[in-house]
Amino acid sequence: MAERKFSSKRYINLTIPRERCRHLPCDLCGVDKTRHITEANGFDLVRCRNCGFVYVDPRPTREALRDFYEEYFVEGEENISAWRREFQSLYREIRERINRSYGKKGKILDVGCSFGFFLDVMKEDGWDIYGLDYSRIAVDYAVDTMGFPHVLRGGIEDGLFADETFDVVTSFYVLEHVLEPTDMLQYVFRVLKKGGLAVNRVPFTRPLIPFFRLLGLPVFEAPMHLNDFSPRTMPLFLEKAGFKDIHITATRSRRAEEKGTRLAMGATAAAGRLVSWLSRGRLFFPLTGAFLSLARKPEKGGK
Ligand SMILES: [Zn+2]
Repeated sequence: MAERKFSSKRYINLTIPRERCRHLPCDLCGVDKTRHITEANGFDLVRCRNCGFVYVDPRPTREALRDFYEEYFVEGEENISAWRREFQSLYREIRERINRSYGKKGKILDVGCSFGFFLDVMKEDGWDIYGLDYSRIAVDYAVDTMGFPHVLRGGIEDGLFADETFDVVTSFYVLEHVLEPTDMLQYVFRVLKKGGLAVNRVPFTRPLIPFFRLLGLPVFEAPMHLNDFSPRTMPLFLEKAGFKDIHITATRSRRAEEKGTRLAMGATAAAGRLVSWLSRGRLFFPLTGAFLSLARKPEKGGK
């Protein structure tokens, strides 16, 4: 079992014992040559010398991670409504991007949907909503309190949905947590209809590490975060899974509870959007702390 350290946050801060971790080669290119970047909570953050992907090594086993996320969320209405406040405006912005990019409404699956707040934003816009999460607390809330019968407990790898079922598959702050991102994106590809859209939002913390270190703040939330995608490595992962028409964009930030953090995140997100707008989407400001990717399953051919 994972070992509980403290539970003062809205998710439990667990650590995973070393015996439940193992060494794996780079998930993006398969090469096993890395350079050490930093240490985070007793875990090593490394960069692949071949493709530049930044990840934690050694990594928890699949079983260790599932145990971890079954216990991830903390109960209590105040904790749960804090999650909603944090993400509501970001979710609305993402909804607009999806509607602009996809052009029609249909079936949407949110992988790692937690309490169902993004699905709620999509439902009020007329989408047919489905969700997956490992957490019992989150799924019970989505089903019983939100009234979303199609939120199921599990992961996309459990094969709970038939191939080519969904128009859009989203995941927000999920890919950085998974053991094998390539695997997850291949499952997303399978359950998408031809021409369907995959939308992912992930943190991008590597450029922030020197600043955080100067401030004495935690650099990287290992072992919860196992991967640090960049605007360069994310498209490589998406292409590997078969996606085309890939766009990486800056969005507004999530709304942090703490005022200082909120102002800092708001300022870097605004700078990111400005750079993106001025360069017509060609440049990406590396200090936004996160980015959104949109990618399409080809209409013809592909896998
Ligand atoms: Zn690599």
